[in-house]
Amino acid sequence: MSARANSKRWRAGVLGATGMVGQRLVKLLSDHPWFELSAVAASERSTGKTYVDAARWHLEGPIPERARGLVVKDLEPTLDCDFVFSALDSSVAGEAEERFARAGYPVVSNSKNHRMDADVPLLIPEVNAAHVNCIPVQQKNRGYDSGFIVTNPNCSTAGLVLVLKPLADAFGLEKLFVVTLQAVSGAGYPGVPAMDALGNVVPFISGEEEKMEAEPQKLLGRWDGNRFIDAGLGISAHCNRVPVVDGHMECVSVRLKKTATIAEVREALRSFEVSEELASLPTAVKHPVVVHDGDDRPQPRKDANTGHGMAAVVGRVRECPLLDVKLTLLSHNLVRGAAGAAMLNAELLAARGFLKTRQAEQSEVEQATR
Ligand code: NAP
Repeated sequence: MSARANSKRWRAGVLGATGMVGQRLVKLLSDHPWFELSAVAASERSTGKTYVDAARWHLEGPIPERARGLVVKDLEPTLDCDFVFSALDSSVAGEAEERFARAGYPVVSNSKNHRMDADVPLLIPEVNAAHVNCIPVQQKNRGYDSGFIVTNPNCSTAGLVLVLKPLADAFGLEKLFVVTLQAVSGAGYPGVPAMDALGNVVPFISGEEEKMEAEPQKLLGRWDGNRFIDAGLGISAHCNRVPVVDGHMECVSVRLKKTATIAEVREALRSFEVSEELASLPTAVKHPVVVHDGDDRPQPRKDANTGHGMAAVVGRVRECPLLDVKLTLLSHNLVRGAAGAAMLNAELLAARGFLKTRQAEQSEVEQATR
């Protein structure tokens, strides 16, 4: 880790700070050891208001003191910060993120717009930290100076891939079949109308199955120095919205490349441990996959906050008569699948020297021009 990663050093802006994910970011930043919230931006519905007046607060506890009085800005890339998180609605995220990157801001995005771009890392540090090596290529391709875009995956892909990673490493993966039961908070606010959600299951989430079938290929693939090579998995996904507030469940069947017993599969999941570099990041958990032995777990109400919401919880690991192994997993869609994922990505970027303070940059320019 670089020396600068030891103090509250970088000022963070949040684009889309008033939304479901943005609020989680604001909350996570309120007691972050390295990052300090210094700017918030959202739509014209919110701009010009203080954050406390603009945000319809959804989280437990009060709005963090640091955020309350910040005036919500528009999406002009002139925010007073060293880098930005983006939790913007996808209708505006694509262009806005490019504008910020072009203006020199590292952009750590939750939105779908740039995830599958050929020169943008789609990042889960525990899975594919080496993909950050694509950043200089992106900067060269796009003529960006110090700015760049890094993304985190879709909320249901995040938990799935975290669980697939130790299986891919230990046995190799051939194909998988996944059925999701996704929480309503995954649709933002106000999201799914109560009349559709209550006492009901909606067997369609626009674009979700496509994302779940595409994003794992990039995440579990590799960066060869010039381009991303897909993992080449067969994936079939069914996505459903269920009346749960937070936490996406997924029932997964997997065909492995190498034969393995159920005990070996459990052990591979259970022993999945992050590197020392990752373990030292403030948002990381040492064991990001937690395995339950009980027959009736995981459950969203009981397990979504495991590992501060950063762990994927696995249960019911058993033989699959069609493929090889089947299991049920759960992850917190707004933490592991969104704000916590972006925070961890930003921490990895900081630790690897990709985030600069704008003051440091100015003095580098001054030195160079002396
Ligand atoms: P949300 O609650 O609807 O919030 C959207 C945010 O975007 C709000 O801050 C909103 O500002 C802002 N916004 C909307 N239109 C805008 C415009 N024209 N100009 C500037 N700002 C605009 O959505 P969310 O659930 O937080 O999701 C945010 C992003 O993260 C989306 O791209 C979503 O796909 C992605 N994501 C969400 C989840 C999840 O579980 N919810 C998980 C992973 C990724 P105002 O309040 O001013 O309208």
